[in-house]
Amino acid sequence: MASCRFCQAPLRYTFVDLGSSPLCQSHIEPHQLNDMECFYPLHTYVCQNCFLVQLETYVSPADIFTEYAYFSSYSDTWLQHAKAYTDMIVGRLDLGCTSHIVEIASNDGYLLQYFVQRGIPALGVEPAANVAQAAISKGIPTVVAFFSETTAQKLCAEHGPADLIIGNNVLAHVPELNDFVAGMKVLLKPHGVVTMEFPHLMRLMAGNQFDTIYHEHFSYFSFITVEKVFSAHGLTLYDVEEVPTHGGSLRIYARHVDDASRAVSDRVTELRAREEAAGFTRLEHYFSFTEKVKETKRRLLEFLIDAKRSGKSIVGYGAPGKGNTLLNYCGIRTDFIDYTVDRNPYKQGKFTPGSHIPIWHPDKIKETTPDYLLILPWNLKEEIMAQMACIRQWGAQFVVAIPEVTVYP
Ligand SMILES: [Zn+2]
Repeated sequence: MASCRFCQAPLRYTFVDLGSSPLCQSHIEPHQLNDMECFYPLHTYVCQNCFLVQLETYVSPADIFTEYAYFSSYSDTWLQHAKAYTDMIVGRLDLGCTSHIVEIASNDGYLLQYFVQRGIPALGVEPAANVAQAAISKGIPTVVAFFSETTAQKLCAEHGPADLIIGNNVLAHVPELNDFVAGMKVLLKPHGVVTMEFPHLMRLMAGNQFDTIYHEHFSYFSFITVEKVFSAHGLTLYDVEEVPTHGGSLRIYARHVDDASRAVSDRVTELRAREEAAGFTRLEHYFSFTEKVKETKRRLLEFLIDAKRSGKSIVGYGAPGKGNTLLNYCGIRTDFIDYTVDRNPYKQGKFTPGSHIPIWHPDKIKETTPDYLLILPWNLKEEIMAQMACIRQWGAQFVVAIPEVTVYP
């Protein structure tokens, strides 16, 4: 039996079992269509001791992240979010040209570019060499590495400790959670601050966002659980914000446990109490999720079957990781979806993993004038509906599956 990656208790209880799926970023080249594909279980557990919801580490991060297809800068919404964060944190922490900022999993420099523009020294740490190269060519110093306690010691020796450590959508991607958080403790200046953003388990459950479960996401955090993890490594969460990205994320603010200069805010106590009241310290609450997920599958298939029976054509928009969980769990292939499109040229001309749906440039939609556009990255639906408003000219409609199957007129 597997054990909890934080507290080592044996994992006995299923949170949700989504069957088996290939790695969501392993897009298929045309010449690979007849090759065997590796499928791994998407079976999440909840720890009865610390309530960490988690997937076992079936695949090592080296296999997933060393050449990664996700370039953050392809999303306008995400860039705006990064810019707004920079403006806020620079003011709040009074950062300037003598500060040292480190971002873990800095991707293509989508965020650090805004610090560099202000003349604030910043260093990126990014394991995917191809993605790190994109940042370096933008003039953002980037070290190609996985973050760990050992990496932190090296970074500290070579570049000094950090005033601000940033990690957006990385905490959930870390199999060695304890080593990772211990590394931040090492790298942080005595009065430094860590901010991390990750999807909030409370929002995942409330919003039925089961498609955000995929192999790259090893952990799914409530505030109560993430607070325990940081506390075990001598870091106190002194503030928290709920931000809208990725369907509802937490932005936590951590400092050394003995740094009394930053008081713990009321928002910390309030959120902890709200999670407790919602049931996040009781196993039964976690068990309620599975039935909601199954019902969503039934409803989506019902919609697709009805549409096809009435002779309608359906195409996808986007080829995000979450789309692959949805398509594979629901068994949706080209029998329902003719093709999907993505703005990322890295994915164009390839096929979705497992479901083998071709991925084209968004212009394809104007050529084929489908009846329905199923938006797979539902977290960006407003942006996509605005970009693709042209489909209304021929009477087509937008559809999203999460939180529930909805057709937009
Ligand atoms: Zn645990």
